[in-house]
Amino acid sequence: MGSAGRLGGALALVTGGASGIGRAVCARLARDGARVAVAVADRDEVGAGDTARGLRGHPPTPPPHAAFGVDVASAPSVTQLLARVQEHFGAPPSILVGCAGITRDEFLLRLQEAPFREVLGVNLTGTFLVTQAVAQALVAAGAPGGSIIHVGSVVGKVGNLGQANYAAAKAGVEGLTRSCAKELARFGIRCNVVLPGFIVTPMTAKVPPKVLEKFAGMVPLGRLGDPQDVADVCAFLASEDSSYITGASVEVTGGLFM
Ligand code: NAD
Repeated sequence: MGSAGRLGGALALVTGGASGIGRAVCARLARDGARVAVAVADRDEVGAGDTARGLRGHPPTPPPHAAFGVDVASAPSVTQLLARVQEHFGAPPSILVGCAGITRDEFLLRLQEAPFREVLGVNLTGTFLVTQAVAQALVAAGAPGGSIIHVGSVVGKVGNLGQANYAAAKAGVEGLTRSCAKELARFGIRCNVVLPGFIVTPMTAKVPPKVLEKFAGMVPLGRLGDPQDVADVCAFLASEDSSYITGASVEVTGGLFM
């Protein structure tokens, strides 16, 4: 089967959809026929609206996409997000791609507690809150299955200089994914995590060019990743083409750290 329409009008919620990987995921899922609720941080509602507007015109008929503000680290904000999404679309999302994430890099010897907690709050607690809210809504609706995709990082496996907070959060996301996969399987809900390597986005724009060059030189496939590389894997995990895959960590690294 070709990829066009393989999501058949399923409703997808993408957090962090205003930028980088999340924006590419929105475009790819819409291309595959999903309606996309783009959920982004309050401070970037403009970017979310831009993403949603950019999705219009995907064949066969323009599906209804919508942008919502959310702070994934805040339980009341996430509760409100799910209520608004369900009110807008009349059903809970059967696909979730959790792309919202931040970095606050500092070497361990200088890392303060606040940026440690902040990074865990968005990347790990935020992933938990949105996943729980979506799973609760799906189960309450008696919905037949779903696919939850977390965006972790290969840094959660191998660690990274200056990223003790981020690596801890992303390692936590992998454990969260596997526990969710075990608990939600009986509801037909699959849960997988993608582990990007170094992908060129606004997030990596903060990394010194000489560090990026060094990593690019270490990648067996010979280049840094593109958001599209990650989006394509998310679309596969969202679709029935991956119906026997759950609890998996899929590295999208060009072979880095294999
Ligand atoms: P990005 O900065 O371009 O996008 C991150 C998005 O998350 C932004 O739209 C931002 O507004 C949103 N966000 C931040 N805090 C939020 C909050 N509290 N609530 C809701 N939304 C919030 O970065 P990206 O590179 O596209 O990263 C996307 C995901 O991929 C992140 O989880 C990141 O950790 C992960 N990742 C990225 C790379 C990479 O090399 N770029 C590698 C591995 C993993």
